[in-house]
Amino acid sequence: MRGIKDNRVSTIQLIMLYVLIALAVAMVLTTVLRGRISDMMISEMQSGMINVVEQDRFLLKEKFNSIAANLNAISSDIASKGIHNFQYDEDVLQGEMRNYRFSRIGVVDISGNALLGPDINMGNFPGICDSLYGKRRAVYAISTTPGDRRAMVVSWPIMRDNLVTGVVYGIYNEDDLRDLFSIPSFDGVSDSMVINSDGDVLVSVNDQELAKQLRFALNGWQNTFSPSAQQRLFTKVKQNGSGVERIALSDGSQYFLACMPINEIDDLYIVGTMPVSKVEERIGKQLDVITAVLGTLLIVLLLLYSYQTYSKRKQEERLERLAFVDDLTGLGNKAAYVRTLYSYYKDNGRNGQAISIASIDIDNMKACNEIMGFSYGDEMIKRFGIYLSEPLADGEECFRVGGDIFYLILKSQGLQSDGNRLRKLIDDVTARIKAEEHYILTASAGVYQVPDATTEDGKIPSPMECGDNADFARKKAKGKTTNIVCCFDSALIEDMMEVKALEDSFSSALDNNEFVMYYQPKYSIQGPEPILAGAEALVRWIHPKKGFLNPGVFLSLFERDGNSKMLDMHIIEKVCHQISIWRKNGYQVPTISINLSRQTLMLGDLLINELELLMEYYDIPRKLIQLEILEGSFGEKAEDMLAILKTLKKRGFSVAMDDFGSGYSSLGLLNEMPLDCVKLDRSLFTSWTDEVDEVATALVKFTIQVLKLHGREVVAEGIEEKYQVDILKEFGCDLIQGYYFSKPLPVDSFEEKMNKA
Ligand code: C2E
Ligand code: MG
Ligand code: MG
Repeated sequence: MRGIKDNRVSTIQLIMLYVLIALAVAMVLTTVLRGRISDMMISEMQSGMINVVEQDRFLLKEKFNSIAANLNAISSDIASKGIHNFQYDEDVLQGEMRNYRFSRIGVVDISGNALLGPDINMGNFPGICDSLYGKRRAVYAISTTPGDRRAMVVSWPIMRDNLVTGVVYGIYNEDDLRDLFSIPSFDGVSDSMVINSDGDVLVSVNDQELAKQLRFALNGWQNTFSPSAQQRLFTKVKQNGSGVERIALSDGSQYFLACMPINEIDDLYIVGTMPVSKVEERIGKQLDVITAVLGTLLIVLLLLYSYQTYSKRKQEERLERLAFVDDLTGLGNKAAYVRTLYSYYKDNGRNGQAISIASIDIDNMKACNEIMGFSYGDEMIKRFGIYLSEPLADGEECFRVGGDIFYLILKSQGLQSDGNRLRKLIDDVTARIKAEEHYILTASAGVYQVPDATTEDGKIPSPMECGDNADFARKKAKGKTTNIVCCFDSALIEDMMEVKALEDSFSSALDNNEFVMYYQPKYSIQGPEPILAGAEALVRWIHPKKGFLNPGVFLSLFERDGNSKMLDMHIIEKVCHQISIWRKNGYQVPTISINLSRQTLMLGDLLINELELLMEYYDIPRKLIQLEILEGSFGEKAEDMLAILKTLKKRGFSVAMDDFGSGYSSLGLLNEMPLDCVKLDRSLFTSWTDEVDEVATALVKFTIQVLKLHGREVVAEGIEEKYQVDILKEFGCDLIQGYYFSKPLPVDSFEEKMNKA
């Protein structure tokens, strides 16, 4: 089905679209997220650096406090003895030096002259100079040769009577200082340094090269007037007590510096360093992991979503197939036809394109099934539908709406031209099947042009009405032995109206007793003289407007809308009533046969119970009633039919098969049925002529022989000529019904044929 195919294509397209969208979303998301996550990680790393620096500061503070206490003690000792009277014990000094890991301890007087230590004037040494002015614990870095190695001078004023009398100082070598600090670093990539307020690096724990560069970079950091990272760092430290900044060095490398003052007195700062490249590398690795996890998650989600969408689509397609696709042919079914036609209406007749509906029925499908078997029949229906749909133009469609009935939606070129095209279509299909299978199928078709809403009375018939009209035209065409097409035109509309009027008047006809029974005598021919041996009750409708109507005009209509059951029950009662009157009036009533439609027979027990009630009520012996069942009643539900026949037989009713030979029943099948009588159809004798031809009559002869062999009574119907009677008598036929003896007669005429007791 075209619609379904389109859906399949769009499912794949949809999934591809989802994949593309999801990939795009994944890319955008990871890009945005990478930026955000990277920022978060950097700020987390910065607070980590601050924490480390804070720990370092704690350690350093402890050290400095103990150094200060020690220098203070030495200073007080010297002061108490008087600086010039002071003779420092070498041993004590050595002890102090060991305790505090000073490389040297010295004392200078108020003029900076060395009293202890190298014999040089140290009054100009920045730290010592500060202490000479009273600054306690002045700390300063000095360069020592070789290789610009650094040392740190810590000095303390020697106070007497609140006056500075000299300075005691201690010098730490860089290596000793490092031991002093021994601060753990971040995975060996970070470093810790101590700097002073001039930005001079006093000590670096690990990286001396970096220390040199930073000395250069931070030089005068507090005095930078143009806003630089260094100055920002200094401002943060001053304002917030700590800060982190990214500083570019002269070699192009960049470092994060976390900085914090060590204490208020010394004007020293502890700085933690971390190479930006390392941070980025580490963050990059973590981001790669996050991106991979996120990407995988997105892909899994996408796959799940795609799978869900795909299975939903599949489910919809399955439901669509169930609801709208005919399993056998793969064409649309009746529901699909209705839907498609409505969609034509919605599209305003597909932009003004006029359309026609064609209804096509394979005439001899039943025979094909019976002769070749149902699976062969199915194959033929399938090919018929597919071949019919193949030559259709774009926008046209073929549907299988019933067993062997197809509808086409055609682009109309005018009703007659559509009819001609349809005829050609069917001819081609049947010719193709004939060429392939050597089996001749014929079909009848009706075509109906859907009116344009603007030109008619403003109403477009519903799809079902359109289908009915095409069906109606098809039924007009039916009954021929070649492919035939009939167009739905105004004459057909009149026919339709008449049919409708007949259908509508059914119940009033029952009430007004307009159905009248005729009786056609059956004669036994095996004796010396024909004897009246039975009669068939045949209904006629005395219509108030149309007059005398034969059953051929109205029975099929009633079968279509289910009224035939009511009519049959009405007739059974009429016939029973008539027989009881005749019996009361002293007539020798022969067996009267009553025709039953398939629908009536399928009532089963309901029918049998009603029959028994009536016969009891009118006091009619079973042998006076025979039920005629059409050969064509056996088809679908043959098993059920057989069961009903068996019950009828068990309950004492006589059953005859009517019109045998008009269809395709086999003698073999017939023998399985509990039948009392078989009526040979008129068509079996129409090829006979009065010049007796053994070949032409052989089939009838053989059939009668077989039926007699199985103990069936045989009736020949439609016998109009004496020679037919003679031949049939010779063949062993029991009864004759036909114009030769009598036409169907009204009650009074039939009474003349009966004997009185
Ligand atoms: P059928 O049961 O096969 O009835 C025999 C038909 O053949 C009758 O047509 C009868 O008038 C016609 N016929 C009898 N002898 C001859 C003959 O020599 N030459 C020709 N050309 N025709 C002959 P009728 O009465 O028009 O009935 C047609 C069919 O309608 C019946 O065929 C039967 O199937 C059905 N029918 C008639 N009455 C009833 C009824 O009360 N109930 C049901 N369910 N069907 C009925
Ligand atoms: Mg009959
Ligand atoms: Mg018949």
